[in-house]
Amino acid sequence: MIIAIDGPSASGKSTTAKGVAEKLGITHLNTGAMYRAVTLGLKEAGIQPDDEKSVCQFLAGMDIRFDESNHIHLNGIDVSMEIRSGDISSQVSAVSAIPMVREKMVMAQRQIAGEKDCVLEGRDIGTVVFPDAEFKFFLVADVEIRAKRRLQDLEKIGETKSISELIEDIKRRDELDSSRDHSPLVQAEDAIPIDTSCLTIDEQINKIVNLINKK
Ligand code: C5P
Repeated sequence: MIIAIDGPSASGKSTTAKGVAEKLGITHLNTGAMYRAVTLGLKEAGIQPDDEKSVCQFLAGMDIRFDESNHIHLNGIDVSMEIRSGDISSQVSAVSAIPMVREKMVMAQRQIAGEKDCVLEGRDIGTVVFPDAEFKFFLVADVEIRAKRRLQDLEKIGETKSISELIEDIKRRDELDSSRDHSPLVQAEDAIPIDTSCLTIDEQINKIVNLINKK
């Protein structure tokens, strides 16, 4: 069974996907973390996203995997904290728009989810990665609420930004993710939309679990 949870940044996907996977006792795959890890790797290697040759070489030697605690490792190093920085958030959309990067990530996601039952969260899970997923949800939320959630995430890693800056960051990332040529952020026709603006985390999780159990 594949459960696809897509939606724009800070719409509540990660917490919801994690909670749904825990309740159902199945695997949780955060695909955004994978694009963030590639972004961190390119940045550390000093490679610009438009330098196709170097990006290609980097991807060929790159190893991304998740450990038992679902921490992401890039070339053997746990980078789950670093990939959450404001710096990576502002660069990730440019990297995730590179077709070569998407091809490699989609292949890896299909391999990881493979034959297992899995909740995958991202932007293109229900449209591209698993268009035949049994369950598809598309999470949305008011932009100010999303900015407040992003601020809480940043504070956890000792960073801060003003709400207005975060609103601008989120709008810019939505625009880039929705307008790219390859696998843009778009709601799958058969996805169930859920507005998380006024829902608690438990309500978001229960709503999805109930919809799955009803089928
Ligand atoms: O979900 P999160 O905000 O961590 O995702 C970071 C970025 O990774 C997104 O803004 C988007 O550019 C990219 N992404 C993507 N496709 C996915 C998941 C994330 O392009 N399936």
